[in-house]
Amino acid sequence: VGDFERPSSPRVFVVANQKGGVGKTTTSVNIAAAMAMRGLRVLLIDLDPQGNASTATNIEHGSGTPGTYEVLLDGAAIADVAQNAPEIENLAVVPATIDLAGAEIELVSLVSREQRLRKAIDAYLAASSDPVDYVFIDCPPSLGLLTVNAMAAAREVLIPIQCEYYALEGLSQLLRNIELVQQHLNPRLEVSTVLLTMHDARTNLSASVAAEVRHHFGDRVLRTAIPRSVKISEAPGYQQTILTYDPTSTGALSYLEAAREITTHRREESRA
Ligand code: ADP
Ligand code: MG
Repeated sequence: VGDFERPSSPRVFVVANQKGGVGKTTTSVNIAAAMAMRGLRVLLIDLDPQGNASTATNIEHGSGTPGTYEVLLDGAAIADVAQNAPEIENLAVVPATIDLAGAEIELVSLVSREQRLRKAIDAYLAASSDPVDYVFIDCPPSLGLLTVNAMAAAREVLIPIQCEYYALEGLSQLLRNIELVQQHLNPRLEVSTVLLTMHDARTNLSASVAAEVRHHFGDRVLRTAIPRSVKISEAPGYQQTILTYDPTSTGALSYLEAAREITTHRREESRA
């Protein structure tokens, strides 16, 4: 397996779904790791106060560690707070600490409160002497100001959808919020990618959720679905991605394949 194809300009993804537990963090971390391990340069921004993406990539994120909070609230530069993931070359991570839990409220009174992450990412991409190919922003399970900042900063939305009952419930709310962001903050934002997660090939339920999602989102749904796998859920407990924890597992291979699809699954025609 060769290296992944490099995009002509950086692609910035927000990984969003206001439902918790659908695989946002697992997807952000493992797609980012898969790309980095195949030679692409990747920046992962942890925007969830729980810091799960920071944990899984094994970067320092104790309270007071400079990270996303300082970028949003103090105007810190991403280049100054990003840390290289210790086990994954080419992967830099902006950590989220528990300090971020107050940011949603603290942001309210600041000027251009919805555009602070966008400004930081734009500055990072413009100044970086060693530019990145992909940026992934892992969102908290809400549609508050943190997620709005991510949607204002990104060009593409990646929606992970868990193959479970009620998978589609709440999606219309997410799509409505994306439309509002398109209208008011970021006209170029688009839902480019949908990934089915926790898929169980043996159940009719997974098959019917997958069919419904494909009917609704068409070719924006990656062909690869991520299987439900105990190994995938174990990896973060060892501060690992599935790519480093068990590189030959079906979970690792499916995230690699999904990442490869993203690199070729371009929708640049619509993004002139
Ligand atoms: P979110 O970020 O949307 O809240 P997570 O990525 O944290 O969701 O996933 C929720 C839980 O499900 C975590 O415990 C995670 O380890 C587990 N999980 C995620 N993807 C899978 C999978 N494919 N198979 C089994 N467990 C998974
Ligand atoms: Mg999460």
